[in-house]
Parts: sequence; C-alpha cells; structure tokens
Amino acid sequence: MGSDEAVRVRGLVKRYPNKVAVDGVDLDIHRGEVFALLGPNGAGKTTTVEILEGYRRADQGEIRVLGVDPARGDRVWRSRLGIVAQTSRDEAELSVAELVHHFAGYYPNPRDPDEVIASVGLTEKRRTRTRKLSGGQRRRLDVALGMVGNPELLFLDEPTTGFDPEARRQFWTLIENLRTAGTTILVTTHYLDEAEHLADRVGVIADGRMVEVATPEALGGRGARTARVSWLSADGMREIRTDEPTAEVARLMAQYGGSEVPELEVRRPSLEDIYLELIGAVAAAPELEGAAR
Ligand code: ATP
Repeated sequence: MGSDEAVRVRGLVKRYPNKVAVDGVDLDIHRGEVFALLGPNGAGKTTTVEILEGYRRADQGEIRVLGVDPARGDRVWRSRLGIVAQTSRDEAELSVAELVHHFAGYYPNPRDPDEVIASVGLTEKRRTRTRKLSGGQRRRLDVALGMVGNPELLFLDEPTTGFDPEARRQFWTLIENLRTAGTTILVTTHYLDEAEHLADRVGVIADGRMVEVATPEALGGRGARTARVSWLSADGMREIRTDEPTAEVARLMAQYGGSEVPELEVRRPSLEDIYLELIGAVAAAPELEGAAR
C-alpha cells in the first residue's frame, strides 16, 4: 500500500438478508485530503463508512484504513480515528465541558478540550447539560467529540444536518482548519454546496456502486459542459447553448449597443445538476451533453 493513502478499498461487498448494500466499491482517499461521499438515501454510504470504522464487517473485499484492516483494528489504531456518526452518543446529564474533557481522556495525544469547545462555537454552552442543547448545538458537540482525540483520519457522517446557515459556514471554516493541520477527512453529505466548498474530491455512490470519483469541478465532465446564455429579449426569455459564451455575450452587447442586456445570465451545469444526472434521477438533458447549439 502506498503510504500516501489513508484509505484503500478494493471490491468491497456488504450483503444484508434482503439487500446488497455495497456492491463492489473501490475507494482511495489520499492522506491530507477532504473526500466527500455523495449518494441518495440508501445508496450504501453509511454502510461503507461503518465498515471503514470497524463497526461492521465486510462480506468481501480488501480494506486498509491507515494501513490496517479495520476488522483487526486494535485500540491504538482506533485512537488514530475520529468518528462523528449519524446518531449522537447519549450522555444527557453531563455538561458540554465534562463530556469533551471525559472523551479527551480516552486518547493518548488529545487536543486541548477547551480549545476544541471554542472551535465548534460552544464556549457559551460549556456548562450546559447536553440534553438542553438544540439539535444544531448537539451536532457541534458531536464534531467536538470526533476531533478531540486529534485524529489522523476523521469520519463525518452528515455532520451539518440541522445546522443553520451561519453554523454551517462556521463548520466549513473548522473543517478547512483541520485540513490545513493535515487531518484526512471523509465526509458524507446531502448538501452539494457543502461538498463543492469542502471537498478535494467527491465520490458518487448509487445503489451500492461507485459511479464516479473526481474533483467537484471535473465531475461528469462538468468543466467542459456546454454553457447556457439567457437574457430577456423583446419577445420574452431567450436561451442559447454554446461552447463560446464569451463570444455570445459580446454579440449581445453589440446588439444592445453597449447598454445593459436585460437579465443576462451565463450558466454551466451545477454540481447538483451533474450529481442528479449521475445517480439517474434525471435523464441527461441535451444541454448537458457536449457541444450543441
Ligand atoms: P442515507 O443517506 O439515508 O443515510 P446511506 O447511503 O447511508 O443512506 P445505508 O445506511 O448504507 O445507506 O444503507 C444501504 C442499504 O442497506 C439500504 O437499503 C438500507 O436499508 C440497508 N441496510 C442498512 N443497514 C441495514 C441492516 N442493519 N440490516 C439490513 N439492511 C440494512
């Protein structure tokens, strides 16, 4: 295994009695990168992540996480991981500070618990019992518990569900800081803007299979897709598909004598457009298929 791979998976299969949840997934996550796993409900994301964490057993496949087969991971290996699962740990009667300090004690080389509490924006709530936190605050506490052990590899399963927009932006900054500090991060999310903002690479999983792995900019050939130029003409909204949007805008400017072109917009397919196409939720629209005008 190359030492730059934090995760290396080949041919992962997980079967439940009525369902093949993961059906031959390959996955490489490089050390130091933020990797986002995207996919619809039931695609197999949590199953995959929990196998990597050592909480579930694979039926088939070759799996290495920080160089170790998770099925044989010991305490030392586990202490190198940080885990923010979908459901919170229930320690309702402890305060935020008590809980984070308590968790720090499990690890050989923890971060300063008070700094961690501050970094997730819970300093004001440090003496509050966890059962009195709001949903978003509880989720921030989960993130604090996942990072207090100073992990080499951090798993975040839908970490920002329930966050308000401001909290989500703060969380993004937190993740960027962790990445700068060298932490490898695997995040699952249903928020495409979150994946686009945070991830070095994204993997799209659908029905237990990895459909594509790429940078957010390149997914589905996105960067090379045809642009749409739209504006409000005298006859109503007009839209032109073109591989040369700049030339189209120049033509419109000339047509409008250099004055403002009403409601002018240049658009390429968003990550969400590409994602929905990849998971088969929408048919590939003609404007998403190469050059055409
Ligand atoms: P979500 O976005 O909803 O969290 P997911 O991509 O994480 O979905 P998984 O939780 O991995 O999906 O589930 C994949 C499939 O396996 C689903 O069809 C689910 O119903 C099934 N499944 C998951 N856990 C079990 C289990 N313990 N027993 C039986 N089937 C299961």
